[in-house]
Amino acid sequence: MAKFQGVDYYGVEGHYTDEERMIRDVAREFVEHEFLPVVRQHHRDGTFPVELAPRMGKLGFFGANLHGYGLPGVTNVAYGLIMQELERGDSGLRSFASVQGGLSMYAIYAYGSDEQKAAWLPAMGAGERLGCFGLTEPDFGSDPGRMATRAVRTQDGYLLNGTKLWITNGTIADVAVVWAKLDGVIRGFLVERGTPGFAAQDIHGKWSMRASITSELSLQDCRIPAENLLPVAEGLRAPLGCLTQARYGIAWGAVGAAMACYDAALRYARERVQYGKPIASFQLVQRKLVRMLNEITKAQLLCLHLGRLKDRGTMKHTQVSLAKMNNVDVALEIARMARDIFGAAGIVDEHPVIRHLLNLETVYTYEGTHDIHTLIIGRDITGISALE
Ligand SMILES: Cc1cc2nc3c(=O)[nH]c(=O)nc-3n(C[C@H](O)[C@H](O)[C@H](O)COP(=O)(O)OP(=O)(O)OC[C@H]3O[C@@H](n4cnc5c(N)ncnc54)[C@H](O)[C@@H]3O)c2cc1C
Repeated sequence: MAKFQGVDYYGVEGHYTDEERMIRDVAREFVEHEFLPVVRQHHRDGTFPVELAPRMGKLGFFGANLHGYGLPGVTNVAYGLIMQELERGDSGLRSFASVQGGLSMYAIYAYGSDEQKAAWLPAMGAGERLGCFGLTEPDFGSDPGRMATRAVRTQDGYLLNGTKLWITNGTIADVAVVWAKLDGVIRGFLVERGTPGFAAQDIHGKWSMRASITSELSLQDCRIPAENLLPVAEGLRAPLGCLTQARYGIAWGAVGAAMACYDAALRYARERVQYGKPIASFQLVQRKLVRMLNEITKAQLLCLHLGRLKDRGTMKHTQVSLAKMNNVDVALEIARMARDIFGAAGIVDEHPVIRHLLNLETVYTYEGTHDIHTLIIGRDITGISALE
């Protein structure tokens, strides 16, 4: 198959700096040569190529927009471009990097003590140690503020009890950032692998995000030392601050998945002959391809501007909601249209389309469902909350 050339109808690339383009190209090459050759088998087997973690760390993919601790400190646009390229590979690959950098590392970076930052951030940035982020529970998904997981003080630390569900990287993580209520207030705790009372097990039977590890975390009288409390995190706004980081990356990542589907569908439509002509010559097929390109172009512009706002420090979390909501929605629509253009061939994993389509069903739901983001923006513009 010919090399991926990118999708850039509006010359958006011209607005990236040389360094941003170079970082994008490094991620694109990695995906092309080191990830795409193995993803199909991992998708079939329901496994993730965790051995790529140190390589991804070396290339600066984890916490790329964070500063200090040996982390790359690149612009938010460059960070977004990394997420875009990773998700062109697979949403599971981007999720792996998002959970490591945007959620787990960011929680320690933003809310940790100096000792916690020094102990975890360099090793996590290098991909030598992995993190997961435990917010969702069996009974509290969209509404994590009512979480049931509890922490109580002990003589020398805390005792945690509760269950976290749908946790990406749960069984491979060296440290779980666990959110629990202490005296009625949500706090963040670092629970290290092997801590007595802490167990993780994988969720099987997934038909979405198959090339990603999703787990259940169980905390039963799990004792952790006092120094494992994230001192600065207090209240729901702490985990939501991490989610803003990760959702920002998802907005970019969705563009990558959409680009992969559009690129595959365009190539196929030019080659596939029906009624004696390439199907690309039929008006209805062209309409679908144009709709795909149209939405990719708008999503790219949304991301670029959002990234520049974030670099200036003026980005609002509701603007991230809008980009996540829009870009995942259109990526899912694009994946469905691409699947349609492939006809029957669209349902087999010889082509990337069905894999992206299935993955995007998760992306539509996690990190705030499409509808929850709609209501977050609705609350922002009307001043009235329809959430509860
Ligand atoms: C593969 C995968 C990986 C994940 N990784 C992580 C992770 O690493 N860490 C983590 O903490 N979580 C993770 N999640 C969990 C994810 O964030 C939740 O699934 C998500 O927040 C939605 O929660 P829920 O599934 O319980 O759905 P629910 O909250 O039960 O929602 C079900 C439906 O009801 C709708 N709904 C709910 N409330 C309202 C309302 N007020 N108004 C209108 N509609 C409403 C929703 O939009 C949705 O359509 C992951 C999920 C998946 C599938």
